[in-house]
Amino acid sequence: MKAAETAARHRWIACEQCDLLQREVDLAERSDAHCPRCNAVLYRGSRARLDTMIALALGCAIMFLVTNMFPIAALSTQGIDVSTTLFGTVHVLTEQERPLVAMLMFVTTILVPALELSALLYMLLPLRFGRVPASLSTAFRLLLAAHPWSMLEVFLLGLLVTLVKLSELATIVPGIAFWSFCGMIVLFSWLSASFSTRDFWHWVEAAREGERKAVP
Ligand SMILES: [Zn+2]
Repeated sequence: MKAAETAARHRWIACEQCDLLQREVDLAERSDAHCPRCNAVLYRGSRARLDTMIALALGCAIMFLVTNMFPIAALSTQGIDVSTTLFGTVHVLTEQERPLVAMLMFVTTILVPALELSALLYMLLPLRFGRVPASLSTAFRLLLAAHPWSMLEVFLLGLLVTLVKLSELATIVPGIAFWSFCGMIVLFSWLSASFSTRDFWHWVEAAREGERKAVP
């Protein structure tokens, strides 16, 4: 990070609120820089290290795979046992001629989280080894575009309401995927809260600097 820290001393930043141009300084972790004229937050000190971000993203990816491979809940009533996976729920909705709900569920709980995690790992893993991935800006734009469509928490809330209501009619046993889904939401929230675009571009700058020095 030395190169990025040095670069920060030569960088200028304009306040988004009052346009005051000022020189950036290095900040301690989790501290904020405020505009001296209007007190708006200019930028924040590092929220998480690259290794922490990669660990969180890998943890999310493992939880995501478990969530999609195992049953999310099992229902038992009058001697009949039924269990379903996340993708199985999408399939059932399609069979019940609810293609819009099925598509919305597929996009918000499977496709978008998969795209977000893939884009993050695609960008962060090479940076960890000092390389800038090709198509970095495309992956970054994809991440920004996908994020608002990730609605894991909404799905979990709907699932909990359904399970509580169904528990009056049948025995409900949350499956492995249910717990991994909960774990994924915790890790995803932690990841989103820790991800700072400013830190990210500093890591990119440091990797580019390293690549430039490596060229004889
Ligand atoms: Zn200002």
